This record gives sequence, C-alpha cells and structure tokens, in this order.
Amino acid sequence: ANREVEKAQHAHPEGETLFEKIINKEIPAEFVYEDEQCVVFHDVNPQAPTHLLVVPRKPIPQLSKADDGDQDLLGHLLITARNVALGKGFDRTGFRLVINDGRHGAQSVYHLHVHILAGRQMKWPPG
Ligand code: ADP
Repeated sequence: ANREVEKAQHAHPEGETLFEKIINKEIPAEFVYEDEQCVVFHDVNPQAPTHLLVVPRKPIPQLSKADDGDQDLLGHLLITARNVALGKGFDRTGFRLVINDGRHGAQSVYHLHVHILAGRQMKWPPG
C-alpha cells in the first residue's frame, strides 16, 4: 500500500505537480521573485539559513527530461539564481546551487527546480 501511495504521489493525473499549484497560487509559498519564465520562493523545509527554489513556469519534470530547445530557459534559471544571490549579498559569502535528478539524485518533486542554499559553510562531498 505504501508503494501505491508513493506511486500516486509521483503520478500527476491532472498534469499538475505541487510546484505548479504553488506557481498558480493554489498553494501558498513565500515568494521572493517572479517573472514570465520562472518563480523563486522559500523552501518549506530549509537545509540552510537561506534555502530558496528557482522553478520554471514550464513543467519540465527533471533536468534529464529537458529539451535542447529549453537552453534559454535553463540559462535564465541560473541567471535568476545569480541575481537573487547577489541581491541578498551572497556574492560576498558564497552560496550553493543544487539540481537533484531522479532517484539517485534524491529528487522528490518532479518539476525541475534549482535549490539556492546559503548562510552557512557548506560541506563537500554532499550526502
Ligand atoms: P529533496 O526533497 O530530496 O530535496 P527535491 O530536489 O525534489 O528533493 O526538492 C524538493 C524540495 O521541495 C524540498 O527541498 C522540499 O523541502 C521542498 N518543498 C516541498 N513542498 C514544498 C512546499 N509546499 N513549499 C515549498 N517547498 C516545498
């Protein structure tokens, strides 16, 4: 039964993921930026003093499923992450961007997103 629940959580019969609901303002989130192509909001379960998610409005499930034609959008996500990090002064202290892809990448929400982590010393290698 648990496997069924897990499968159900990963299936999107209405074609709408959790992040689409956030983008459509059906579920609340603490937004810090939005434009025509993407939104940035606070992660509900922060892994650093600042933990933001940069999410394209286009529902690309994961980086490995992106098309070559998504090149400009993917670049926009990085530039947006850069701009948000600069706006918060993290160019002085540093920050980390993470994209989890698939099972081994520990991806849990199948709508592409870039994590911005900042405000503490990061470690390497990641867990
Ligand atoms: P992981 O859960 O392993 O970090 P992902 O890379 O798919 O996998 O990240 C999904 C992120 O979405 C998690 O950091 C999680 O805390 C965050 N999240 C889940 N639900 C919400 C929500 N309602 N609002 C904001 N962030 C959320």
